[in-house]
Amino acid sequence: MIAKLASLPLVDPVSLADGPAVVERVTTLRRSADYDLIILGGGCAGLSLAMRLASLGVKCPRTLVIEKLPEYTNDRTWCFWGKGSPQVNHLVSHAWQRVTLRSESRSVEVDCGATPYQMIPGQAFYAHALQAIEASQRIALLKSVSMLSEPRNSGHEWHLETSEGSYSGAAVIDTRPSHSSGLQNVLLWQSFCGSEIECESPVFDPTTVELMDFSKTHKSRIHFTYLLPLSRTRALVETTAFALVPLTAQDLSSDLSSAIASRVQGRRFRSLRSESGILPMGTSLARNSPHPTFIRAGLTAGAARPSTGYAFQRIQRWADSCVQLIADGKPPISHKPDPLVLRGLDHLFVSVLRSRPELGPELFLSLFEKTDTERLIRFLSDQGTIADYAAIASVLPVFPFIREIPKAVLRKAAAQS
Ligand SMILES: Cc1cc2nc3c(=O)[nH]c(=O)nc-3n(C[C@H](O)[C@H](O)[C@H](O)COP(=O)(O)OP(=O)(O)OC[C@H]3O[C@@H](n4cnc5c(N)ncnc54)[C@H](O)[C@@H]3O)c2cc1C
Repeated sequence: MIAKLASLPLVDPVSLADGPAVVERVTTLRRSADYDLIILGGGCAGLSLAMRLASLGVKCPRTLVIEKLPEYTNDRTWCFWGKGSPQVNHLVSHAWQRVTLRSESRSVEVDCGATPYQMIPGQAFYAHALQAIEASQRIALLKSVSMLSEPRNSGHEWHLETSEGSYSGAAVIDTRPSHSSGLQNVLLWQSFCGSEIECESPVFDPTTVELMDFSKTHKSRIHFTYLLPLSRTRALVETTAFALVPLTAQDLSSDLSSAIASRVQGRRFRSLRSESGILPMGTSLARNSPHPTFIRAGLTAGAARPSTGYAFQRIQRWADSCVQLIADGKPPISHKPDPLVLRGLDHLFVSVLRSRPELGPELFLSLFEKTDTERLIRFLSDQGTIADYAAIASVLPVFPFIREIPKAVLRKAAAQS
């Protein structure tokens, strides 16, 4: 019964040609669930999927998005390399053709004009997604809702008890992030906090992103400043740590203050907003979904690239393929695991960062300095080829990586057991 249900399309394609009224009647007759699909969590993954479903028109399954926050705020900035998804390309507010990396002793400048580093402000993404959802007759978004218990399966549908009542759905996509204490086998935690500041007079170079500035070293962890110049007077300045434990914005606040002070060089400035995050790095977190009609997605379900924590483009690609499947009458899917070689490389790279944090700055500088930029960006954007993997591996120092292999293999085996 379970397998049969999983293979059923969410909306009967035969009925689609007849228009929404018939779809409604057919789904009501054949199913008792309130919705074809319930998306838990209306953040990047949930909204990315919902806004694409909205574009399906009458093919859109009856969908409910449940979000716990009361309102969307400009709480994050998404950056990525190269081409974005056609669904979000028009939301790009800034694109840079140059990035720099700096250590205590030297700096590397990279021309990435062929595949610029691009930024989408959180508020632009949320506004666009909410507009698409609002225009759809078949998608409802409930904000400020808490789950009273975990979804329960009754054999042919999922039941959800929430602070706003009970709902049932034929399938559930759960994008709620797992709490950090529930995540296992994380090799390093990437913690960051940043502030978007406006300075009283010009000080930033709007043409160049400071991707990683390691010049203020930390003994026990990898630590760097990231600066996105939004104009000559405005920038997002962030301080980031790769450490064995997650760090709060409070833990990072004095590092952020000194990073800002060194950038504004005595000028007066005001803080416009702040953002912070904690991302797991290391072992890929793609998890098996507990049931064919219960799919996990998002940052802690395999969306984040294990070696960088970047997830935005991966989420867009997942949403593109998921909505295509649904449009074709097939069930939705979770994130695809990365190719084996890539997983191995990422795992080994983060293992070395964990064991030898003092090597971090030089490893990153070398990668950008010695690898052909387009190759490196393909690799960072999950578009790498075997030749790209080989080229990347060839610029990394041999001994720290060889010494780390047995430890990395053991950790990987322990994680899989
Ligand atoms: C500040 C910040 C900056 C980032 N910058 C980048 C970047 O530049 N590039 C990049 O590629 N990645 C970046 N990331 C990583 C990643 O892209 C984001 O974390 C992204 O938002 C992950 O999407 P998601 O849907 O998995 O999680 P989220 O966007 O966090 O969405 C999860 C949603 O679930 C909701 N929720 C949680 N619990 C419940 C519940 N019980 N019931 C209902 N709803 C619930 C949350 O309120 C949230 O809206 C950044 C992350 C952060 C935090």
